[in-house]
Amino acid sequence: MFLKRIELSGFKSFADKTEMEFVQGITAVVGPNGSGKSNISDGIRWVLGEQSAKSLRGGKMEDIIFAGSDSRKPVSYSEVSLTLDNEDQVLPLDYNEVTITRRVHRSGDSEYLINRQSCRLKDITELFMDTGIGKEAYSIIGQGRIEEILSTRSEDRRGIFEEASGIVKYKSRKKEAVRKLDDTEQNLLRIYDLVHELE
Ligand code: ATP
Repeated sequence: MFLKRIELSGFKSFADKTEMEFVQGITAVVGPNGSGKSNISDGIRWVLGEQSAKSLRGGKMEDIIFAGSDSRKPVSYSEVSLTLDNEDQVLPLDYNEVTITRRVHRSGDSEYLINRQSCRLKDITELFMDTGIGKEAYSIIGQGRIEEILSTRSEDRRGIFEEASGIVKYKSRKKEAVRKLDDTEQNLLRIYDLVHELE
């Protein structure tokens, strides 16, 4: 699996639809300060479901929508699509290419899509679990992140190794199952109470 293409439209400094193709191997993005290099990696993390405006270097989520310039009016929505080569079927989908898209309007309406089909954020998060690509995963190391990883608590650091070893998916399913069990136990207790009252 590798990143094949990114399309940004109305995202941060990318007012117009901008498409970048990547090939296998190393790609370096170079350019003057402030030209938008980091905005590309922000776009990748955003489409993967990043919810924190701060970690996208903004104050609020609306800040990721192109805000206008001396010569351009602001735009009303932002959209980023990421296309991954999936010939090795690392992503559990029966497609050789997987495109995920996130779109947000100034009104706050937002949408996620997998291969142009509307989906939930949860579907995207689960799709990338244990692949090393999720928004919190180790394949995207933002500015200052290495220092953060080294200085963070050992329990938090363990999360990186858990993702690499492929057990995050199972831990997440276990958490969900335990929550459902707790809910069921609460429901049972309520039923016992009702039965007791009726007796
Ligand atoms: P450096 O080399 O200094 O790290 P960079 O190439 O990584 O710079 P970025 O930080 O990606 O540059 O881009 C910063 C530019 O993006 C700034 O000019 C800023 O005005 C612009 N920008 C960020 N958000 C928006 C927005 N919502 N609308 C318009 N422009 C934006």
